[in-house]
Order: sequence, then structure tokens, then C-alpha cells
Amino acid sequence: MRVFKFGGASVQDVDHIRHVAKIIEQYQDEKLLIVVSAMGKTTNALEKVAESFYAQRKDDALRLFDDIKKQHLTIAKYLLVLEFNACIARLADLFTEIEWLLHDKPVREYNYYYDQIVSVGELLSTSIVSAYLNEVKIKNSWLDVRDVLRTDSHFREAIVDWSFTTKSAEMLMQPMFEEKNIVLTQGFIGCTSDNESTTLGREGSDFSAAIFANIFNAESLTIWKDVEGVMNADPKTFPEAEYISHLNYAEVIEMAYYGAQVIHPKTIKPLQNKNIPLLVKSFLDTGLPGTTIDNQKLSQLPPIIILKNNQALLTLRTLDFSFIEDEPVTKLYKIFNSLKIKPNLIQTGAISLQIAVDDVSEKIEAFGQKASEAFDVQIAKGFSLLTLRHYNDSALEKYVEGKEKILLQQSEAIVQVLFV
Ligand code: ASP
Ligand code: MG
Repeated sequence: MRVFKFGGASVQDVDHIRHVAKIIEQYQDEKLLIVVSAMGKTTNALEKVAESFYAQRKDDALRLFDDIKKQHLTIAKYLLVLEFNACIARLADLFTEIEWLLHDKPVREYNYYYDQIVSVGELLSTSIVSAYLNEVKIKNSWLDVRDVLRTDSHFREAIVDWSFTTKSAEMLMQPMFEEKNIVLTQGFIGCTSDNESTTLGREGSDFSAAIFANIFNAESLTIWKDVEGVMNADPKTFPEAEYISHLNYAEVIEMAYYGAQVIHPKTIKPLQNKNIPLLVKSFLDTGLPGTTIDNQKLSQLPPIIILKNNQALLTLRTLDFSFIEDEPVTKLYKIFNSLKIKPNLIQTGAISLQIAVDDVSEKIEAFGQKASEAFDVQIAKGFSLLTLRHYNDSALEKYVEGKEKILLQQSEAIVQVLFV
């Protein structure tokens, strides 16, 4: 079996969905599990609905949701004839569920409502794509992934229950594959044992696809993207960026860890564990080779350049002059953990520490409060963090020299500079 994942950009409008069908058509004689994201910017739009609802601006929430409804109905109208009625009935059910909720008053935590509302994006997009495939005679079964992908109730960052998910995938999906070659389902979303919808974190559809690839021992996972493959830098900031045709799991994990927006960081582990190759392919030009990610040795890589803007620098000093050892470090990591803060760069001294982190105001504020029990805390903002992997002298000169450096860390494999 192969697993395909199509992102929001590849199903953003009528033409794109037609194009997706053309790609799938070529594989329809094989077993194919297809994971699809919400269309275009739907997830962002649904986030606005959730915010309005939670701020008790019901009319705004309903109006914003109405725009989303119209967009989906218009696309369905253009694409479907024979399948139109069945599809519209399913969309209408999904719309009603959300509208009922929007008429309520929020009494639970925000993240719960976020997941109940935002998860509909994937249900809508897959309903339309599945109907269109049927319309053009590419037989497929639509699966509500919430019947299979079980998570805890950590809303917005739900943790997958692998053993339940594996069992129900085998029980529910095997028979579907016996009936039709193609099963189409949603990325990003799951469900608790109480039947509440959950999400796996933004851009989580890659991870969903990897979960199923793992469970079904897929021969490969293909992520179809609106780029040619994985690049060594973001071309918007570094126009000299180039494509890399081959990477391995370890390298991609490192890239994601340092902030490269390649694929969802959780995607690699389920694939690595079963040695399933990940292919990142151009959705627009399927003839291009794209990037293959597997467990093979790498040949020479270009320098990997990762720039993270919007960094805050936390400078901590122990209050009682104790060394930065077990106790203060343990305390610090507890705080990081509880606030879900990930240090991007740490420099340790005898009684002080400097740490660069993403500047998320609420988190930094909460951190300052908690940490000031054990440390003198200073917070400065407005920095950028540049990470170079596989660097050479000319890359150092080009990207690091001449910067107003606040912190610099260098090893054989990697250089990191925090600069103004
Ligand atoms: N639709 C979700 C998002 O935009 C999940 C995904 O695209 O992977 O974050
Ligand atoms: Mg997406």
C-alpha cells in the first residue's frame, strides 16, 4: 500500500482538486490511502470562528462560518453532478453540527472549542474530494478518521493512542480496502474516548499520514506539495536556496528541530521505525524527482540554513549564587515543560544562563513570573537565530560574519548565532 498526503494548497480550488484526481488516477489500481488537509486557508478561517465564539461574539462567529460554508458549497457545485446531492447532504450535516455549537455559550476551555470547530475543515474538504473522485469514476471510500484515530483529550496538541488506533484501523479499514482500492480520510484530526474531536497541532496532517503508513506498513508515504521538494533554506529569505534530492531521517529530524519548516516534526519517527521512505513531490509537476527521505547514508549536502526571527533572550542568574547545577537546572526545565517552551539555544555560565526562545508573549510573561522565584530574570526581545548545518568557510563568511552577534555556538557540525 502507498499513502498519499495532499496539503491545503493542493485542494484549494476547483482546478486544484481536478489536478489531484489526475494524480490519483494513475495509481488507482493499487491500494492507496489518501490523507487530505482542509482546503487552502480554511483552518485559519475556522480559527477566527472559534475566537469569535469564545469571545461571545456569536453573530461574527456565524457570519465567518457562513463564508466558509459558501466557499465549500461553491466548489461542490462546480465539481459535482451525479454525486452532488449526496455530498451536499453530508456537508449540511457537518455545517449543522458547528452551527448548533455556535449557538451555545462557551462553558469549557478554549482549546476544547477550538478543536470541535476547527476539525470540520478536514471533514468538509475530504467530503468534496471523495465525491469528486467518485464523480470521475475513481472509486473510493470516505472514512471519518475520528472512528479510527484515538487520542487523549489534550486539545490542540492531542497525543495519539497507538494501540487503540492500530486495532481500529485494522478492524475498520482492512474491510474497506477489500472492497475498494482507495480509502480517503482526514489529516490533522482525531477523537477522544468520549467522542470529542481533537487536533494534532497545526500542520499535523503529515503526521496523520505517517501514522497510517506505519500501521499499514506502507511501501512509501508521498507528501504532495506546491514546491519541488525539500530545499536547504527558505527561498523567500535566501534566493540562492537549492533542492536536495536525498535526505535521511536523522537529517530531517535535525532540520525540523532547529526550525526548518520542512515537514511536521512528528512525521519522521513513525516512518523511521518501520523504515518507510518519505517522498516529497511536486504536486504541479509530477515528473520532477522531488526529495526522497530514507535511512541511507547521505552524500555531500549543501549548507542547511535555518533562520528563526522573533527570538527572545532570557538571561537568568541564581538568586543565592548557587551554581547552575542539578537543582536550578531541574527547576528551569520543569518551567519550560509546564509552559511548553522549547529552548532554541542555551549558553551556561557559573551562576547564570542565557537562553534564546521563540518570542510568544504569553509564554514569556508566564515564564518570567515562575522563574523569578529561583532566578533573577532579564528578558530582551527582537533577535534572530541563524543555524547553519554542514557549513564551510565560505558559508560562515557569507552568513555569520558582519552580524552583530549576541551569542555564538560552534561545533564541527553546526553553528548557531543569535544576532540583532
Ligand atoms: N489544516 C491543518 C492546518 O492548516 C492541518 C494541515 O494542513 O496539516 O494546520
Ligand atoms: Mg496545511
